[in-house]
Amino acid sequence: MFKSKLMKAAMSFALLGTLIAIPPISPVSAADASCPNGYVALTFDDGPTNNTNNILNALKQAGLRATMFNIGQNSQNNQSLVRAQVSAGMWIGNHSYTHPDMTKLNSSQMASEISRTQDTIRSITGSSPKLFRPPYGATNATLKSVISQNGLREVLWNVDSQDWNGASASQIVAAVNRMASGDVILMHDQYQTTLQAIPQIAQNLKNRGLCAGMISPSTGRAVAPDGGTTNPPAASVKVEAENMTKSGQYASNISSPFNGVALYANNDAVRTTTNFTSGTHSFALRAASSNANMARVELRIGGQTKGTFYYGGSSPAVYTLNNISHGTGNQVIELIVTADDGTWDAYLDYLEIS
Ligand SMILES: [Zn+2]
Repeated sequence: MFKSKLMKAAMSFALLGTLIAIPPISPVSAADASCPNGYVALTFDDGPTNNTNNILNALKQAGLRATMFNIGQNSQNNQSLVRAQVSAGMWIGNHSYTHPDMTKLNSSQMASEISRTQDTIRSITGSSPKLFRPPYGATNATLKSVISQNGLREVLWNVDSQDWNGASASQIVAAVNRMASGDVILMHDQYQTTLQAIPQIAQNLKNRGLCAGMISPSTGRAVAPDGGTTNPPAASVKVEAENMTKSGQYASNISSPFNGVALYANNDAVRTTTNFTSGTHSFALRAASSNANMARVELRIGGQTKGTFYYGGSSPAVYTLNNISHGTGNQVIELIVTADDGTWDAYLDYLEIS
């Protein structure tokens, strides 16, 4: 962390606090020719459980991303599974801390269920959920107001897979077959039937020109994934840093020396998810140091460190890491500062994958 920038970051956070009414800016998503009929959202409630790794492996193998509405105490007790959810490219929502019928609680009990879960997931992943799903879909006006006071969006569902009610794998796939663009389906983390349905869910969506997307925190509907999620890089794919997901204490957008993101301190990071069909690519990052000191930005793919980008001064430059081996399917690509010694900040413009 470079000192004057710490002040600047602290000031912009103070300002943000007074402007809570401003909705998050929707990142521009690349049009995807394989999704002509739009996006639907797959959701898995009540995890993490001892079935989570199976669900994640099946989703990754099928090239699907989903929203996992985690129970706070399950997350606290299974932190590595929560990290595995993020590494697999899933989004994490808040499903209360102890899974009560929230409508039977008073407003301070409601707030506690929600905020304990926010704190737990943030401490594990570095980011706070933006979505809340009440257990059993049970909600009322008091709960809705507590949810919005916590900066969250309530998300129920349009289609119920009935996996919790003994539906077979084929009945779950039949429920997916009823989904149209924008719809959200309710499924659960812990059932073998749900796990068995995943390959056929992928096939059904593909047949109908639909893709699995994220849930918009502003509308609660399914939309294209953010962060420049792309299909396999054909020639090359460029992801603007400001369209990636930020995490860490100080990471924030900048408009000089380019539109991008500044990483001010260790663990400040941006990430995006890309679906790779082959396991070797080159990664070119345009970036700069805040001053004459050497700025260092680490490249991680699927949670593994793959190399370091170096920027020897304040003029923006492109530095390329060639022939990087990585996993296939959905992979989280992260640009993170880990070697900050207090003398520089890193400014990121874009990442180009080829
Ligand atoms: Zn539940």
